[in-house]
Amino acid sequence: MTHKTGTVYLIGAGPGDPGLLTIKAKECIEHADVVVYDYLASPFLLNYAGKDAQIIYVGKKGGDHTLTQDKINLLLVEKAQQGLNVARLKGGDPFVFGRGGEEAQMLLSHGVPYEVIPGVTSAIAAPAYAGIPVTHRDHTSFVSFITGHEDPTKKDTRMQWDVYANSNATLVFLMGVKNLENIVKNLIKHGKPSDTPIALVRWGTTARQQTVTGTLDTIVERVKAANLKSPAVIIIGHVVSLRDELAWFDKRPLFGKKIVITRARAQASGLVSTLSKLGAQCIEIPTIQIIPPEDIGPLKKSIKNIHHYDWLIFTSVNGVNFFFETLFDMGKDVRILGHLKFACIGPVTKERLKDFGIVSDILPETYRAESVIDAFSSINIKNKKVLLPRAKKARTILPEELIKMGARVDEIAAYETRLNAERKEELISLLENNGIDAITFTSSSTVSNFISLLESKDTKKLLKDVAIASIGPITSDTAKSLDIEPDIEAKDYTIQGLVDSLLTYYESK
Ligand code: SAH
Repeated sequence: MTHKTGTVYLIGAGPGDPGLLTIKAKECIEHADVVVYDYLASPFLLNYAGKDAQIIYVGKKGGDHTLTQDKINLLLVEKAQQGLNVARLKGGDPFVFGRGGEEAQMLLSHGVPYEVIPGVTSAIAAPAYAGIPVTHRDHTSFVSFITGHEDPTKKDTRMQWDVYANSNATLVFLMGVKNLENIVKNLIKHGKPSDTPIALVRWGTTARQQTVTGTLDTIVERVKAANLKSPAVIIIGHVVSLRDELAWFDKRPLFGKKIVITRARAQASGLVSTLSKLGAQCIEIPTIQIIPPEDIGPLKKSIKNIHHYDWLIFTSVNGVNFFFETLFDMGKDVRILGHLKFACIGPVTKERLKDFGIVSDILPETYRAESVIDAFSSINIKNKKVLLPRAKKARTILPEELIKMGARVDEIAAYETRLNAERKEELISLLENNGIDAITFTSSSTVSNFISLLESKDTKKLLKDVAIASIGPITSDTAKSLDIEPDIEAKDYTIQGLVDSLLTYYESK
């Protein structure tokens, strides 16, 4: 069978911040049959790929190539010839030192159709995130992008050191960290003043961004002292001095803080995005896995008999999700819930319920007994039938309080939580190498599971320099009972409350 040859899209994946991907690139990844990426493209972008897409890593880090350029070329051609559309993600812009031009020529020679989707190049974005505009009317009228990869002692060099040295252009070198000393020497040798400002920006636009500044005279020492490595762009020229005034990205309050998120993966995104916006580098180590209950029978039965109930109470987003998933699976819809009164614990649970078109009647702020009693105080639930779909083995306070108030409560397992040990090794290694600034605990089980992951290791020692952040008193109590003393406890027992307390903690430091 012959297929129509697929198209290869040479896509600029941007410099690292996933938000800097173009809309066209995103759509292209969504529709691709094959996604080919290398180490400069943010792995986050792979989330846009379709469920059935093939995802292929082709590496390339310094000289340590996972696949040679020839093999990459071959791969692109092969896949296209199989009739597949290929999204070839390239860091930054595909035609700026990305060998995109060569890939396009090669595709052309094989008769493979291609399109180019430009991207935000690191040559501009990394300086921008470091507060360095590559042009500025007061400082320079042009900018050059130069490869720093070429061996400066090479005879037939294309490097025009005299031109670079004697212009007032901003010089941006890519792939130049290893050659920094040579670059600097050559510029000075050809007449560039040795007090010209220079900056190196590593992993620009990401939470790991690192910037070192100096002059041509001092930079080599400073880069050594800071142990700054590739990938970085080198910016040379008077615009670099504007960083003192214009730096913004690394001034955000949690910049550079490495914060562990222990929540289940499905629930982590809100916390991760809020912390990331404040500059933190979030390390997701989910300690919990959320799965359907072993026996879904009781939940189904309670839905079938929903007309017997007066109240439906949700204590978590998971409870809401699993309840409605089961309800829809049973071929029913929200109309069977019309006669019920609803209560949700916590504002996030309430918001989730609203997604299904239902506004909660009452809203106890927390699980604490007083809070529940308070919320129900003006409501007579004596002899009312209450359905409480929630985690298997959840805390007993809530049903106990309701029963004390005269309600008849059916507690049903809507989901189960399990220990997630997928990233155990990574966690231990990070802790042993001081790679963590803070750990967030958003429930008692995140704490107890975390401790299980550390097995019999010396927890006190491992957590000595780590700030422990707890979402509220119950989680803190669990932590204390396991010999972990929280440094931070949210005032408001919500994700936002936790973030606010982290901010206050670091502000006061
Ligand atoms: N096509 C890419 C460049 C590829 S060459 C682009 O337009 O950005 C690889 C070089 O790009 C690296 O050696 C480094 O100099 C630079 N680079 C890529 N991403 C970077 C980043 N996030 N921060 C700093 N430099 C980066």
